[in-house]
Amino acid sequence: MQYFEWYLEDDATLWKKVTQKAKELSKTGFTALWLPPAYKGQAGLHDVGYGVYDLYDLGEFDQKGSIPTKYGTKNEYLKAIKALQKAGIAVYADMVFNHKMGADEKELVEVVENNRFNRTEITSAKEVIEAWTKFTFPARQHKYSSFIWDKSCFDGIDYDDRKKKTAIYQIAGKTWDQDVDDENGNYDYLMGADLDFSNPKVIKELYSFGHWYLDMCDVDGFRLDALKHIDSHFFAPWLKDMRSYSKKELFTVGEYWSSDLKELLDYLKDIEYSFSLFDVPLHMNFFKACNDAGHFDMGAILENTLMKCASQNAVTFVENHDTQNGQALQSFITDWFKPLAYALILLRNEGYPCVFYGDYYGTKYSPSFKGVIDLLLKLRQQQMKGTNHDYFDHFDIIGWTFEGESESEGLAIIMSDGPGGMKKMYVGKDKAQKTFVDVFGHVGDKVVIDENGEGLFKVDGGSLSVYVNQDGQDFKVS
Ligand code: CA
Repeated sequence: MQYFEWYLEDDATLWKKVTQKAKELSKTGFTALWLPPAYKGQAGLHDVGYGVYDLYDLGEFDQKGSIPTKYGTKNEYLKAIKALQKAGIAVYADMVFNHKMGADEKELVEVVENNRFNRTEITSAKEVIEAWTKFTFPARQHKYSSFIWDKSCFDGIDYDDRKKKTAIYQIAGKTWDQDVDDENGNYDYLMGADLDFSNPKVIKELYSFGHWYLDMCDVDGFRLDALKHIDSHFFAPWLKDMRSYSKKELFTVGEYWSSDLKELLDYLKDIEYSFSLFDVPLHMNFFKACNDAGHFDMGAILENTLMKCASQNAVTFVENHDTQNGQALQSFITDWFKPLAYALILLRNEGYPCVFYGDYYGTKYSPSFKGVIDLLLKLRQQQMKGTNHDYFDHFDIIGWTFEGESESEGLAIIMSDGPGGMKKMYVGKDKAQKTFVDVFGHVGDKVVIDENGEGLFKVDGGSLSVYVNQDGQDFKVS
């Protein structure tokens, strides 16, 4: 589960809250949590965590207006990790290495300006600007690291404090990192002071920071931010080193925000499949389907996705902090489709599903789907077993089944983005004469399995029904 959303209150309580919830989350069926970036951002208490100022300040130093981060103090963070691990939940830390923001001092920096839409095109003569590129962390006083970041550590910046001008400034004598996404000519630059991944001093610092983080926090894996903008040769060796340093498997998922399956497959090849990627194409299929008023071809909902084409390296998700309304990658999945989308990630063997905090608990702008998700998790744990049969064979109505491992089990999932209807699906010959019921209660009619092991399952329009063997456990949506 991604344990945060963009619009949480800036009240420094998340670490305490998740500590209290650890046992309950484990009991519900969550096996791992991705926690938000724990280091101090430029906006201090108000920073979601991606405007990184000091990687070594996990809510310990009075910097950027407060000791705690948006989520609490360092000690509360460490306590939360321990509590989650004790409850059997793995903890993944969010690593934000692309950029730094909120420097302590300005420097005079010689730059050239780039065309914002084609960063391979230089549009100005060399000029000297006043840039916020020096990070000395005066309040930390070299505790944990004495590394000082200055203009030699960065490729570019987007603000000249002398002229109060915003532009894409490439530091003179530097080249953008080459093995990055080619949107805008070269998409090395995203925001803030962009780290120079060709500078050995920077690389060395990121390795020693990684070791420090593992020693200090003992996390079980990582979520890597903004991979499109970071040299693709950096993370595979970095992670290999972290794995050997910690002697842990360190499950890792990267955010490469592209709906182009080929780009993701190429990236996976580049990193020799050493970590997973979020299944952005699947999310975009959900986004199209939920906005297409029944005209999306549901039979193709899994087409051109990592889930289908590289399931070993796919982290499937419905929503995240960036896709929420008002955020950078806004592509919000509408309410009616959420149960369908969650069934598609939680009741499949392919991919490693990630539930979004905002969908689970609700946000200021969207309802909670806790009841639906809890039930799907229970089904995933208890009923999703045995041979799987797929029926992704219709424009509106699709379904799939699991035979289970005994005659009192079996699971049949059916959904439609258009009108309601029926589908004949196989749940196993040993289920002949058994009765299946919709645990969501949308369809009242029970289904009696015929002698061939097939049942005629019904679904309402724009809806999800999940049938279980009545001989099995008592399933109800809460
Ligand atoms: Ca970059």
